[in-house]
Amino acid sequence: MRTGFVGLGAMGMHMARNLQRAGLLAAVWNRTAAKAQALAAELKVDAPATLPEIAARCDAVVSCVSADADVLEVTRGLLPALRQGAIMLDCSTVSAETARQAAQLSAGRGAEFLDCPVSGGVEGARDATLAIMVGGAPEAFERAQPILKALGRTIAHFGPVGAGQAAKATNQIMCAGIIEAVAEAMAFARAEGLPLDKLIDTLGKGAGSSWYFVHRAPNMARGSYPAGFRVRLHAKDLGICHDMANRFGVELPVVERMRREYAELEARGYGDEDISATFRLKEELFERTNIMRAPNRGNA
Ligand code: NAP
Repeated sequence: MRTGFVGLGAMGMHMARNLQRAGLLAAVWNRTAAKAQALAAELKVDAPATLPEIAARCDAVVSCVSADADVLEVTRGLLPALRQGAIMLDCSTVSAETARQAAQLSAGRGAEFLDCPVSGGVEGARDATLAIMVGGAPEAFERAQPILKALGRTIAHFGPVGAGQAAKATNQIMCAGIIEAVAEAMAFARAEGLPLDKLIDTLGKGAGSSWYFVHRAPNMARGSYPAGFRVRLHAKDLGICHDMANRFGVELPVVERMRREYAELEARGYGDEDISATFRLKEELFERTNIMRAPNRGNA
């Protein structure tokens, strides 16, 4: 299956490499063309100049771009040359409604659309261990197996188009609560003067551990937040969760609190940092008090 890849960002760059390792990658395209040209030269695949050119030469196109409008823009860009029976796999995190709109556009050309949002961070993208939540026709899901298996380790079909995005929104709600808890706990531990590396190593094996604690608490210990999963992207995801919950007349407290914290981080210019930058706000809680004592400082 000749596969094209669109969107060579923090995730897409690794995912395209994994498709090439599986012998599936035929061509890459990126809005900023220089990235596509550099990767194409490295992987010895094509880097056509336009989206129709990539659609014309592929049986499947995987996309991983930023937000709802971008997915629709890319889908419209591919459409004029999308082959009958081709499969579009969109790995971006967007609303279920956007997935349904993109599917409708693709169906107009006789192509299948699968919403395939992923979880597992840039590490999961690099190591091909992503969890992939899929919505779409079961037959297209079956045909797409070689591509999905090249990108991830846990692959689940949740129902019609949009169901993958609903599963991903569920995940993003959990991530909001967990990253906030990790940041708050780490700020507390630092104020207590605990040796943070030893703490991460120990609590990382305890009941309160999580992927975010093991992989992102070290950012907090170092005070450096390279993306990662950008603040502005998770803020975008929580906007989607907000809208989806809103349809039930519900406001989710964890989602709303993190939306406020991300808005603050973005206003301060940290929108392109990893979401572990939440620690910046949590450590300020302790800096504001002048009765800070660190009973364990010096015992490290
Ligand atoms: P990123 O590093 O910001 O990269 C975004 C990519 O999308 C870039 O290649 C960008 O092109 C391209 N793009 C954006 N708007 C476009 C448009 N209108 N037309 C064409 N290309 C466009 O983002 P990322 O971290 O790879 O995330 C990509 C998607 O995966 C997002 O939906 C995100 O929510 C989701 N996701 C991310 C993670 C994570 O840990 N990073 C984990 C799971 C899911 P340029 O190079 O020209 O800017």
